[in-house]
Amino acid sequence: MGDRVWYIARPGPTPEDAEARIAGLISAMRDAGLIAGEEAPEAILGPPEGPVYWPGPRAEDGLPEGLGRFTDLDCCGVEFIARPIFNWGPLNVDAFTAPCCSAELAASEVIDRLGTAAGANRDFSATAIACPRCGAASGVNDWVRGGFLLARCGVGLWNWQVATGVLEPVRRLARAAFGPELVEAGYKI
Ligand SMILES: [Zn+2]
Repeated sequence: MGDRVWYIARPGPTPEDAEARIAGLISAMRDAGLIAGEEAPEAILGPPEGPVYWPGPRAEDGLPEGLGRFTDLDCCGVEFIARPIFNWGPLNVDAFTAPCCSAELAASEVIDRLGTAAGANRDFSATAIACPRCGAASGVNDWVRGGFLLARCGVGLWNWQVATGVLEPVRRLARAAFGPELVEAGYKI
């Protein structure tokens, strides 16, 4: 099985007190038994973007029958991120529909612009992308349906099962920490 990460994130703008909100979410998830122990950067792949913890004793309470346990995996940590999150999963497609003019574009026509604006520049502006077809400006997230390319802050669940029973307890606490309008997306490594 490949590794994957699922983000539950705040679309924006970045709250000035992002660090405090993250700290509050860490505390709430610990109290709920969703994370446990000391910081454990080894519980995820790659350099962490913030504090990482192992899952807690309640993390799999809502695991649907038939889905494999994830808390025994070497990579199953929870990553708390108080800075922009680039989720490149939506770039792994063959074509895009332009949000401005509905043109069907081959991925190669626009993917460099999206990758640069979202991945390199962390550009949240509504003018980040100029449509290669009609020239109109749009934001990076306008180019993805469901999910996001760029979010402001959030939590990354590494190898957690993407199932309602597993995610809902995290969502509930994330809404309290970040506000009601969350976005979710992920990718396989
Ligand atoms: Zn266009």
